[in-house]
Amino acid sequence: MAESLSRLLTDLGERSTYDAASQCSRCGYCEQACPTYVATGDESKSPRGRNQIVRLMLEGKLDDKASALEALSSCLTCGACTTACYAKVPVVDIVLEGRRMLRGKTHWLVKAVCRIMITSPRLFAVLLKTGFLLKRFGVSALGRPALRAAGLPVLAAMDAHTREAPFWNLDDLTKSRETPESPSYRYFGPCGPRYLFPRVGVATLSALDELLGKGAYLNNPCCGLLAHNYGDLSDARELARKNIEHAEKNGTERIIGDCSSCVAFLKSYPQLFLKPEDAEWRARAEAFSKRVRDVIEVYGECADKLPAGAAEGVETTYHDSCRAVNPQSLKTQPRRAAQQAAGGSFCEMAGADACCGGAGAFAFVHEELSEDLLKTKIGRAAAVQAGVVLTSATSCLIQLARGFRKYYPDAKVLHLSEFVDEALRKNNGT
Ligand code: SF4
Ligand code: SF4
Repeated sequence: MAESLSRLLTDLGERSTYDAASQCSRCGYCEQACPTYVATGDESKSPRGRNQIVRLMLEGKLDDKASALEALSSCLTCGACTTACYAKVPVVDIVLEGRRMLRGKTHWLVKAVCRIMITSPRLFAVLLKTGFLLKRFGVSALGRPALRAAGLPVLAAMDAHTREAPFWNLDDLTKSRETPESPSYRYFGPCGPRYLFPRVGVATLSALDELLGKGAYLNNPCCGLLAHNYGDLSDARELARKNIEHAEKNGTERIIGDCSSCVAFLKSYPQLFLKPEDAEWRARAEAFSKRVRDVIEVYGECADKLPAGAAEGVETTYHDSCRAVNPQSLKTQPRRAAQQAAGGSFCEMAGADACCGGAGAFAFVHEELSEDLLKTKIGRAAAVQAGVVLTSATSCLIQLARGFRKYYPDAKVLHLSEFVDEALRKNNGT
């Protein structure tokens, strides 16, 4: 059994995982907010069903391990249930605890990737570049059957879902960037904008420089979300400690990141250090997380500085990334910025805060369920005739781009940073 946290930070204070799961009164108020329950009608795929499974597991009364694994692994970890729940039951953390308890050893590939990220980030970048090069020449597509045969269907699905294969990553593109003596912010480069969507990282730095004054690139280690959700907690803690130490050596300014999933995880670092022997690290994690901001909340604060209607043109709407709108409650902030820049072109779509089915590895593991959610989302964007859909997390960028290619090629997905940066540039005539 993989190590679990055992204790969680909830809205009602620190609790054992068992007490947190027992907070669920089984009222069912959250059911209609849960995309997997709405799509399947299966109680075991609802928030209260999943809470109950983990509770039974902790009581030693679980008899059907396979069904429990299916119910927990099919959770999107979107957090919509907690937003809807009057008691704020932390279902995502409870589900992740359940998965850890059911899982045996971490998959060797996840373990290997996490260790490379910890011990040799440069090697990680080189391996990614090699993979992208193979993709550019079509070799990875030819290798998909072999990946499936080798028991790595997730890698084959990742390759099939993703078009991007950039030659230059964000570190390459910002090599000549100078670090100011007194930076106005520190940029945290999540792996998505850093390696897969460097255009997003470039846009974020450009927009923040314009809005806040010149900032510095932290050149940070990976946040550890992969290890936290799919690997070992020890690796997640090691990466968290590395990030905290690195940030402590680099000023006291705000740390701003541009993938909402990673930012939400950075903000949750204190939960990794709840053991009595980790008291010092808990205090440092709390100080660190207070410095962390999602770039979309910064754009919300700076909305008045954006040129009104500068990006007006095609119909533009906003898709809430789950880890922005649920754990971080960032709903109005990105809209303030998007509306200001889009002017009369901004429109709301129905169900903007419903998960698109991306959700980390979910889209590669539960392809059918993910496709159902994606079709609904694309249909809603098409219903308002959107030409541009804005969002703030790497998973959503991958998933929505795939959905638009397949079902509604009239639209494209952009990170809010790209939209804001474009508006600023248009206004400056650059
Ligand atoms: S998670 Fe909250 S809203 Fe959902 S059934 Fe439990 S108590 Fe009710
Ligand atoms: S996190 Fe999302 S998918 Fe999982 S139980 Fe809650 S609402 Fe349902």
